[in-house]
This record gives sequence, C-alpha cells and structure tokens, in this order.
Amino acid sequence: METKEPPTLEQALPKIHIRDLPRDEVIAMANNAIANGKGRTKVYFKFTCQHCGQRCTFADADVCHAEGECFKCGKMTEVKEAGFMLVLTMPPTKRGKQ
Ligand SMILES: [Zn+2]
Repeated sequence: METKEPPTLEQALPKIHIRDLPRDEVIAMANNAIANGKGRTKVYFKFTCQHCGQRCTFADADVCHAEGECFKCGKMTEVKEAGFMLVLTMPPTKRGKQ
C-alpha cells in the first residue's frame, strides 16, 4: 500500500476538527461556540461522503444542510453525522467607505 499522491488540503491542515457526531449534538455545540464567540466566530460544518469517504465542508458559514454534495464524487449524502470547523473572524477595521 504505497500512495504517492500529495496530501489534499484537508489532509495537510492541522486536524483541528472534531470527529463526526450526531447532527443534533454538533449543531448544539456549534450554536454554543457561536454564542461564546461574541459575533466573531463562524462555523463551517463538515460531513463525510457516504459514497467515497471524502471529508467535505459546506461552503456556507453557520449552516448545516440536511444533504451535502461531495466535491470529489459529486454524489449527495444525507448528513446524519457531522463535524465542524471554527473560524475566528477579524474585528471590524476602519477602512472607510467601500
Ligand atoms: Zn464522494
């Protein structure tokens, strides 16, 4: 079993995400984290593709969809278990009008 493929971004990143937990539990944990984040925390929910095992992340912050499309194989997975990644956002800067 020799694999010469370079690590994917997902593999290269530090393993800071928690393992998949039942959806309700994960959403409760994420809501807790958002509440404690004082408006500076976003969460990105993750799920594991039931077809190819790819770890996928939803593009929209703070939303755990009921189904997710695998970015690798393109098939849909019903998200019964999920994890999430916490992202701290920077405080607003005074850059003037856009
Ligand atoms: Zn897949």
